[in-house]
Amino acid sequence: MKVNQLFKDKTVLSFEVFPPKKTSPLASIYGTLRELGHLKPDFISVTYGAGGSLNGETTINIAHAVKHTYGIESVAHLPSINFSKEEMITLIEQLKLAGIDNILALRGDITPDVKPKQDFRYASELVSFIKQHGDFNIIGACYPEGHTEAVTVKQDLINLKEKVDAGTDQLISQLFFDNDYFYVFRDKAADMGIHVPMEAGIMPVVNKKQIERMIAICGVNLPKKFKQMMEKYEHHPEAFRDAGIAYAIDQVVDLVSQDVDGVHLYTMNNSLIARRIHEAVASLFTIPKHPTVKVSA
Ligand code: FAD
Repeated sequence: MKVNQLFKDKTVLSFEVFPPKKTSPLASIYGTLRELGHLKPDFISVTYGAGGSLNGETTINIAHAVKHTYGIESVAHLPSINFSKEEMITLIEQLKLAGIDNILALRGDITPDVKPKQDFRYASELVSFIKQHGDFNIIGACYPEGHTEAVTVKQDLINLKEKVDAGTDQLISQLFFDNDYFYVFRDKAADMGIHVPMEAGIMPVVNKKQIERMIAICGVNLPKKFKQMMEKYEHHPEAFRDAGIAYAIDQVVDLVSQDVDGVHLYTMNNSLIARRIHEAVASLFTIPKHPTVKVSA
């Protein structure tokens, strides 16, 4: 099923997982998926490390299991910067064979160790390519605080509009800790003529190392109250975790109250934390909503 159809009549709640590291057995993810599956999210997306290998089978196998073993719709992430068009066709065919209907079409991060191929310079080029080669619901990434390489937030929005016009059916945002960034971004996107469903990305922060890594990768701002929370509990792991969960719950309650199209929870493969957040907010996602977005067929 194309998951963009879900936005027609409900506030969507989705989860994100990543494949286990190469040193861990693939099977280690399945316990997590089973537990996440019990929470009945609207879909689960599976990341794909942009390391230049054609090892998308791991992502595709997990996305296949999410759908066919655990009965939850799945989304496969697909970063393109390190692939040729030929390689991309192979991956698209594998996705078709696995019965995956939803692709998060990404450029991927440019890393110093891998020389990018030139076939897909931007995610918008991948979106057009997927459109030519299959019938998928295509999802794109967006950045409420601007992408780290963006010249200006305005230019980033112009580029996002190009990606949507290329055939993106739905958007999922980068994580953020100040909801106001998301609301301002959502309004600006609507003013630019971007009307596809846009989910808000929320990451529960449960230890200090995790947030330091995220700031380095994503360049997101930390509000004062978040910093105070970190300072107060940094030497008390259990309290830090509880405060991080409470903070994420607070963000979700506010987002749903402000009629977001959906919330995408970066679970970090931690089903216990996902369960605690889910327990606190699940009922908010059961209230029918008036459609405010354009959903493509
Ligand atoms: P693009 O949309 O191509 O944007 C990248 C930059 O190029 C932006 O600064 C944009 O403004 C600029 N740009 C776009 N078009 C043009 C143009 N025509 N001319 C000039 N500049 C332009 N990475 C992974 O490797 N694997 C994953 O599984 C993964 N999952 C993610 C999930 C989500 C929800 C998000 C938000 C990000 C994810 N990423 C993942 C990270 C993502 O790959 C990086 O943020 C990457 O740097 C940008 O990818 P993009 O698809 O947003 O790129």
